[in-house]
Amino acid sequence: MTSSAIRDVSGAVLEIDLAAIGANWCTLRALHSAGPVAGVVKADAYGLGAAQVAPVLHAAGCRHFFVAHLAEAEAIRGLLPQHGPDATLLAVLSGLIPGTEALYAESGIVPVLGSLAEIDHWAAHARRLGRILPALLHVDTGMHRLGLDARELALLAQDPARLDGIGLRYVMTHLVSAELSDDPLNETQRRRFAQACAVLPATPRSLANSSGIFLGDAFASDLARPGAALYGINPTPDRPNPMRPAVRLRARVLQVREIPAGESVGYNAIWRAGRPSRIATACVGYADGWLRSQSGRGHALFDGAPVPLVGRVSMDLTTYDVTDHPAIGPGAWLELIGPDLPADAVAQAAGTNGYEILTSLGRRYARVYTA
Ligand SMILES: *Cc1c(COP(=O)(O)O)cnc(C)c1O
Repeated sequence: MTSSAIRDVSGAVLEIDLAAIGANWCTLRALHSAGPVAGVVKADAYGLGAAQVAPVLHAAGCRHFFVAHLAEAEAIRGLLPQHGPDATLLAVLSGLIPGTEALYAESGIVPVLGSLAEIDHWAAHARRLGRILPALLHVDTGMHRLGLDARELALLAQDPARLDGIGLRYVMTHLVSAELSDDPLNETQRRRFAQACAVLPATPRSLANSSGIFLGDAFASDLARPGAALYGINPTPDRPNPMRPAVRLRARVLQVREIPAGESVGYNAIWRAGRPSRIATACVGYADGWLRSQSGRGHALFDGAPVPLVGRVSMDLTTYDVTDHPAIGPGAWLELIGPDLPADAVAQAAGTNGYEILTSLGRRYARVYTA
């Protein structure tokens, strides 16, 4: 189906610029001279389509991929070479759920081990198979979600034989506030990570996420793990966005109606017209991940000009005050996300971050990929 055929039946179109995602990976690769740069493609590549994004990153030179869950890795494994010079490492951040050892070992997907129990299970499986099994090791330096804590790390340092049978590829940790460049936690975590690595067998290290890459050389490591910046989210929120925009979302106006001053629009009448108004109803709603928390806030763009969102976002429809935009009629396209209205800005109106805006993008949009 051609993209114009898709457009004809669609009230909303999500365009994803794969060339921009590839270019963003190259930008990060150039910035992180200490070592390779992975591609984090969890949550279906932050909502943009892991099956489309992963091959593009591989073509750009990416050889390390991270997802959150084993099922996500299984879904894209066939798209990534596992042998030969282009072979990839495909790692699962959520680690080894008991009972999944055989699935990992058979598929070559690599677990990120996050506790002594996971280490013991993986090492036992390696003994059963009589071969070395690869893994990453996650140490907790302050996030306190996954990873070996200080007590577990000390136990492992006393008894390094617990790692027998495990081929440790990287030791990693995850930064709590990398996007806040002056947060003292960054330096605390960097120090704790160095201390942890010092008591572990010599292994390459992985530290920075997207924003961490911009924290300077002290946060460089043998493998950076950016996700958000690949997809155009600003990794340096207090500075202009160095990444290329990768997403454009547009929705059509279904109807435009005139309402007298004093009338309300939408559920619960949370917005009332202060003047005779023209209201455009667009073909997008919270069932599309167009978050309801934007109700009465935020805006779309028409010909580059802001058009205020009014009233509640409902399941399939969102209303805009187009009184000042006489050119907007039925069939007009409103831009909801784009180069001049990034996901980060939409997120501000919705009281969230750009990550949640992208990962919420719905399944009803016609998706158009440009290469
Ligand atoms: C999601 C995630 C990343 C990528 O983070 P971004 O901020 O999107 O670059 C890296 N490492 C871990 C452990 C993650 O969970």
